Amino acid sequence: MDIGLKKKIKDESAGLVDWLIEIRRDVHAHPEIGLQETRTAAKVAEELQRLGLEVKTGVGMTGVIGLLEGGSPGSTLAIRADMDALPISEQTGLPFASKNKGVMHACGHDGHVAMALGAARVLAGLRASLTGNVKFIMQPAEENYGGAKDLVEEGVLENPKVDGIIALHIDAHESVGKLTIKAGPLGAAADVFMVSINGKGGHGSEPQACVDPIHIAAHAVTAIQSMIPRTFDAREPVVVSVCSIQGGSAFNVIPDSVHFGGTVRTLSEERRAEIPEKLEGIVRGITATFGATYDFTYIHGAPVTANEPGMTELMSGVARELWGDDNVVEMEKPLMGSEDYCYYLQKVPGVMGMLGAGKDVGETYPAHHPRFDFDERCLSFGVELLAATAVRFLNRTD
Ligand SMILES: [Zn+2]
Ligand SMILES: [Zn+2]
Repeated sequence: MDIGLKKKIKDESAGLVDWLIEIRRDVHAHPEIGLQETRTAAKVAEELQRLGLEVKTGVGMTGVIGLLEGGSPGSTLAIRADMDALPISEQTGLPFASKNKGVMHACGHDGHVAMALGAARVLAGLRASLTGNVKFIMQPAEENYGGAKDLVEEGVLENPKVDGIIALHIDAHESVGKLTIKAGPLGAAADVFMVSINGKGGHGSEPQACVDPIHIAAHAVTAIQSMIPRTFDAREPVVVSVCSIQGGSAFNVIPDSVHFGGTVRTLSEERRAEIPEKLEGIVRGITATFGATYDFTYIHGAPVTANEPGMTELMSGVARELWGDDNVVEMEKPLMGSEDYCYYLQKVPGVMGMLGAGKDVGETYPAHHPRFDFDERCLSFGVELLAATAVRFLNRTD
């Protein structure tokens, strides 16, 4: 990259520290659940408009798209940030803690909003030297709904056509100034299953007159937990967790039915495709053995999130150049969590990097914890990396 341009990006990003913190804290204090991000979206739209971007609001309900056109025509890079918070009661005690009861930015999306706006500010200042466009996809409902899916269906990757996409996710487990990144699977596919075991209720003293669904459900849950690891190759991760079970309401009544359900996480589409039949087969066999019937529902959620190797190389190369080789860490293992960023990655080559945001003092709480917080010094690093990666992508003849 042009040395003058690189220095400009570094200086501009560093100069935004106070402004970034202000944005992050404002968004943090006013968190909104997915598809209700009206205040956040209005603020985002206002900032992007102020920078002279072409702004569309109400995309996928509350999403905001900003288009920055460079000085000369070329390809289009998208920078994606999610805007939604979680249904968690904040316990950080921070001066800018959530003012919305029971809602909290506990995944760093407040930081993502600030960084994308910061990158917009830096890139708007470099507009004349950009060959192509930067599209800012400010997305709703990552946590609860898979908002990215609706945005893709509404055509956010078209007009102009997006040629590549980048994003950063706050990572409170790594130090500020570091990027953790890997090509290939980064996050798991996340599916949901639900089972009803239909037996025959009756008096607790007369199980012989009943078909006891609690007993059968206990067998089914145990069989699921033992069959899955004994059926699939241990080198290819599959996580099946039964996370809820309901049945019965009295100590002396055998109920008619029991319901349970859970989550399935896989890292390959091949493995994922095999799970529904396997799970249903276990339930079918167990219920048949004990003379009950069952209902089985399997819902496919987000697919595997997989970083495209070329885009991964691009972002990690830029980070090495900016921060040095020692500060770019190869992610050893993918996360079994899911990310709706996968819906963009299914359509265009892209990458998500994990931006080091760990605090030097105090305890580190994981994302989605009521005490989750991160070191705000990471924000200007994120801006610098997003902006420099965008420039590198667009001005590829550099
Ligand atoms: Zn999250
Ligand atoms: Zn997140």
